Amino acid sequence: MLYDLIIIGGGPAGASAAISAARQGASVLLLERGRFPRHKVCGEFVSAESLSLLRDLLNRQYAPLIQDAIRIARARLFLDGRTLQASVDPPAASIARFDLDAALWHSGASAGVDARQQITVQSVAGTGPFRIVTASEEFETRALINASGRWSNLNLAPAEIGTRPEKWLGVKAHFAEPMSEMTPEPSVDLYFFDGGYCGVQPVTISDEDPFTARVNASAMVRADVASSLAGVFAQHPALRDRSRNWTLLSDPVSTAPLVFRNPQPERDGVFRVGDAAGFVDPFVGDGISLALRSGLLAARCLKSFFAGESALPDAARRYSQAYRESLLSVFRASSKIRRMLVLPAYVRRPFLSILESSPAITNYLVRKTRSG
Ligand SMILES: Cc1cc2nc3c(=O)[nH]c(=O)nc-3n(C[C@H](O)[C@H](O)[C@H](O)COP(=O)(O)OP(=O)(O)OC[C@H]3O[C@@H](n4cnc5c(N)ncnc54)[C@H](O)[C@@H]3O)c2cc1C
Repeated sequence: MLYDLIIIGGGPAGASAAISAARQGASVLLLERGRFPRHKVCGEFVSAESLSLLRDLLNRQYAPLIQDAIRIARARLFLDGRTLQASVDPPAASIARFDLDAALWHSGASAGVDARQQITVQSVAGTGPFRIVTASEEFETRALINASGRWSNLNLAPAEIGTRPEKWLGVKAHFAEPMSEMTPEPSVDLYFFDGGYCGVQPVTISDEDPFTARVNASAMVRADVASSLAGVFAQHPALRDRSRNWTLLSDPVSTAPLVFRNPQPERDGVFRVGDAAGFVDPFVGDGISLALRSGLLAARCLKSFFAGESALPDAARRYSQAYRESLLSVFRASSKIRRMLVLPAYVRRPFLSILESSPAITNYLVRKTRSG
């Protein structure tokens, strides 16, 4: 069978593209090497800009995932002994990837997507149509979307194979955290230290025990600084103290390497969405939003190709342009902030003093990192 569209990778980007294309009437095959549900290294901060799209993509039965999610209206940055506060307006939602990715996957299957798990794509041939090779089968498709995430054999440019990028890794787990009447309203708390940062936010409050929150701790850290969450917690005094009261609720998961590259929404006729197109610094909490939005954008740009009204290279050009116009600003803003954070402490300090005494500027910087 010749599919209209094959998508490699069933994370938020792949699922968004698959559901959107299937609703346009295309025949879609979605291939995922893992199995849902599964934990994923992520801060689980789902920015407000993507919530209406997410609501639209999900089956109605999953609406409570968004409705009942804890809202995060505040960000606190713990850096150089200071605490910077910014409002997150409109508030983000805190949704565990364990639930979110599985809900998107099942919503794809009910939208008519041929969704197959535990199949790893090994190689791709052609520039349209394409032949997709897995260990057990080969498939053919008119159009191809690479949604295989940040770091996959399918995303490496030939020059990158065998290179050794600076080693950064991601690690995360859920913990039970005791609360009291004094616990402040839910916030995303970012603890910065030399060689990384750790984000902490509540994902649920227990029904049986309203004084216990399930918190997600996720870190991005240089491999020579720490390789476990215990090692990460030890890097920041306030985080070390806070985490002393935590009980582990899920096995820690990790991922490596974390590499930032310039976004590339298309290569050799293959559309790229989500992290496969470009990996935005995780501390801006916009990766899921970019994944959902770029998936939708790719499907929309392919619509006239599926209908036989335009050629694949034209659709690819339209997608690259739309991607640059609507999504590139997030990458620019986040790389500017990252450059500020890695400055030597003596240069950074005066800048932080200004931010500490001027929340309006901090709020402005946070707003600049949104993709909406
Ligand atoms: C430490 C950290 C914290 C983060 N915190 C946040 C946050 O709070 N908020 C936020 O919005 N974003 C955050 N992000 C970013 C966010 O996790 C990603 O941007 C998002 O997961 C991208 O979605 P995606 O669908 O592009 O890729 P992924 O979610 O990575 O999905 C890709 C899928 O492709 C599959 N795959 C890969 N190769 C193949 C293959 N060859 N064949 C078949 N399947 C394959 C993988 O198994 C995977 O399921 C964080 C990232 C890190 C590292």
